[in-house]
Amino acid sequence: MQFLENFTPELTISSPGRINFIGEHTDYNMGYVLPTAIGNTITFKLAKNGYQNSCNVHSVGYEGFSFDLDKIAISDTEWQNYVLGVLNEISKLTDKVKGFDCTIESNLPLGSGLSSSAAMECGLAFGLNELFDLGLSKITIVELSQRAEHTYVGTQCGIMDQFASVMSKEGHVILLDCQSLEFQHIPIDIKPYKILMLNTKVSHNLASSEYNTRKKECEEGVAIMRKKNPHIKSLRDVTSEMLETSKNEMTKTVYNRCSFIIDENQRVLDMVNAFKQNDLKTVGEILYEAHHGISKLYEVSCPESDFLVNLAKTNPSILGARQTGGGFGGCTLNIIHKDAINSFTAIASREYSKKFNIQLDAFEVQPSGGTCIL
Ligand code: ADP
Ligand code: MG
Repeated sequence: MQFLENFTPELTISSPGRINFIGEHTDYNMGYVLPTAIGNTITFKLAKNGYQNSCNVHSVGYEGFSFDLDKIAISDTEWQNYVLGVLNEISKLTDKVKGFDCTIESNLPLGSGLSSSAAMECGLAFGLNELFDLGLSKITIVELSQRAEHTYVGTQCGIMDQFASVMSKEGHVILLDCQSLEFQHIPIDIKPYKILMLNTKVSHNLASSEYNTRKKECEEGVAIMRKKNPHIKSLRDVTSEMLETSKNEMTKTVYNRCSFIIDENQRVLDMVNAFKQNDLKTVGEILYEAHHGISKLYEVSCPESDFLVNLAKTNPSILGARQTGGGFGGCTLNIIHKDAINSFTAIASREYSKKFNIQLDAFEVQPSGGTCIL
């Protein structure tokens, strides 16, 4: 690496990925989610470079690039848009950002449902806020990062990923109401169980386009139900009864999407209660139930994720499992007894490789703190 080789950072930022226990695709439907940051992070090293507008950014594994703050525009190189999108959004709020250099290093597998994208956006926004003393609040950092993903990357994501990356607290999950942005940190202690992630290593290109399609299908359902219930603004305001009343006016697909979201919101609240009572058996059952919906109703799973969840079901040391993240691959999340991790990982790796000829990645995660200065 030559680009920025002899660079002396002023500031180092750690920006985490996240998992979501439950509440998949509910964020852009104004519902509930239950995420937490994890220990896998992206590290940003930053320094002012003395120039008015000239910036240099290098990310390990990518080619470095330079740009001018007064000529920010969408790039043809996908990853650069996570950087440029953030700068574009910050420029609407303040003109205090000046020339800077930045290096980025990640131990967060990308495209695997752990939201490396939000870690990129939020880490950079958080770092620039510190470096140039922009005075942005954490929630502003969350919201501008989400907008960057909409405008520059083109994924119409909800707010969960950015919120979890910035606002998480070690040992806790966040119960977030994506409508009001009210949230609670809920302590969780799942001993002697652990959270084991299995990375399918498949990241189907469908994810971004299908994501936007799901969002449209949900909006279509809302528009149909609004005819009978004018107060409805999003699926958050819809009950199962309302859905049944309008069932004949919508396609089976739209009905299934809406049905999944209504149930998924309830599952978030049910899981919070289960965590509060330390009822891990129920937590696990909810995970399996959610995966069924992800696969059959919302149709964002894939053969690889289904295979791993079905394999988990055969193991009595696993309480529950489901695919996490936007879908079509990425990781499955498993609540597993600590003594069973090695044997299950060995079996899962062998069977997965036999079936798909892919080497599985397995790793434990823990609820961790949000974006911070190191
Ligand atoms: P996820 O958020 O689940 O990891 P996405 O497809 O939303 O998956 O985001 C992955 C994209 O984010 C990558 O394709 C890349 O463009 C960008 N990205 C993630 N990590 C890095 C990194 N360390 N350096 C540069 N770009 C990154
Ligand atoms: Mg993402």
